Amino acid sequence: MVTPVSYFDLIDIFSQPGCAICNLLRRNVDRSLEALLYEYVGDPDSHQTFRQRRGLCNEHSWQLLRHPGNALAIAVLYVTAVDEVLKIVDQGPLGLDPQSGMGRLLGGAGRPNTSALADRLEPVEQCPICAQLTASEAQYIQVFCQHLEDDKLSEAYRASGGLCLPHFRQALRCVSSAEHAEILLSIQTTIWKKLYAQLQEFRDKHDYRRSEEKMGEEGDSWRRAVARLAGEEGVFGLDSRSS
Ligand SMILES: [Zn+2]
Ligand SMILES: [Zn+2]
Repeated sequence: MVTPVSYFDLIDIFSQPGCAICNLLRRNVDRSLEALLYEYVGDPDSHQTFRQRRGLCNEHSWQLLRHPGNALAIAVLYVTAVDEVLKIVDQGPLGLDPQSGMGRLLGGAGRPNTSALADRLEPVEQCPICAQLTASEAQYIQVFCQHLEDDKLSEAYRASGGLCLPHFRQALRCVSSAEHAEILLSIQTTIWKKLYAQLQEFRDKHDYRRSEEKMGEEGDSWRRAVARLAGEEGVFGLDSRSS
């Protein structure tokens, strides 16, 4: 399910620190995890997905545990996921030696033939949170690109910390006119040049000849540089996109 975003949401979110698209997606993850724990915990489709994905991806599994929440709901969902894993293991791997009664595995040259079992334990569905983020992300990028010529949006973008690199790449692939491409490139490049100068300033203030100088806004530029190149924390689940 895509959480729709409007042009006004985008303008509003650009005033917050970090990549606007990442921030919208982070809000979505919180809402999706909450919905999973409080609305869809008894939903047969959720249970089927937990079976097919063997739980959530690593990133969203740990976010689920950090979510203020509901241990019982997590247990209910994972009863299904663990049940599926046990069912697959109980079916036995291909090549099980029926004569041994010990569950020994047949394989060439004494090597156990467990690859087929490993294959059957692979997820056969995408993490539902990742799937929802993928759909939402595409919609947000589209709204952003469609309104790049709008003064209010472009000013909000210009005054922000810019898009992260994964979302800038997506925007580059989405813009449909030369004018929009030029606005996108010009604003993002200006923002990156400012960040680059701040990183240099931060580095140079560690020189002993400048050690008395106070840090300014470059003080957290190293942290922002990491976030701007990788994307904000927790946005990119392991059932991946934006690559
Ligand atoms: Zn981003
Ligand atoms: Zn995920």
